[in-house]
Amino acid sequence: MIKYILFDLDDTLYPKEIGLMAAIGQRIHQYMEEKVGLDPVAARDLRRHYLQTYGTTLKGLRVHYNIDTEEYLAYVHDVPLGDYLKPDETLDQALTEIQAEKVIFTNATTEHAHRVLRFLGVEHHFSRIVDLRATNYKNKPQPGAYRYVLDILGARPEECLMVEDSMRNLKPAKEMGMVTVLVNSSGGDGVDFAIDDVTQVVEVFRQIRD
Ligand SMILES: [Mg+2]
Repeated sequence: MIKYILFDLDDTLYPKEIGLMAAIGQRIHQYMEEKVGLDPVAARDLRRHYLQTYGTTLKGLRVHYNIDTEEYLAYVHDVPLGDYLKPDETLDQALTEIQAEKVIFTNATTEHAHRVLRFLGVEHHFSRIVDLRATNYKNKPQPGAYRYVLDILGARPEECLMVEDSMRNLKPAKEMGMVTVLVNSSGGDGVDFAIDDVTQVVEVFRQIRD
């Protein structure tokens, strides 16, 4: 039985097309130039390499440049969220209909998650935010990050349904035995469900509950 729904935050609770993650990506690039001192081409190439190798740019910068993690996190999330997000009543309604504990599981910070949820008007639905600090800086798709979430919740994998826009981040969840839902992305081979819009989680939840 599903007791917990683990929602990724960015590009999952809102559509990719609004450009918020692109704006955060710009900040990451700017950080690599301004704070790490890389030229634009090196910054772009390294970012791609780090994402591929470590799952996040932050992890790569921590390994190779020993950067100040907290400074990085504050810097890259310093974007005007109100320019991108507004209250989403459809999402609010969908979350109301799902009778399970809802948790945010993000590679970002609790502060960023709170701000995003507040702008979307859905903060009250989430009992918990498991951020990068809560997983001792293990990020998705590192399997350790998922084990932290299970420990924190006191949950077994089969009690969890995970909703994510990243196929790569769903893979470890699926391997551990969670039910996986890909959202806002094409493809979907290897996951249990693929949906176009996060509000369709309601139907997925109904299907597996009944
Ligand atoms: Mg995401």
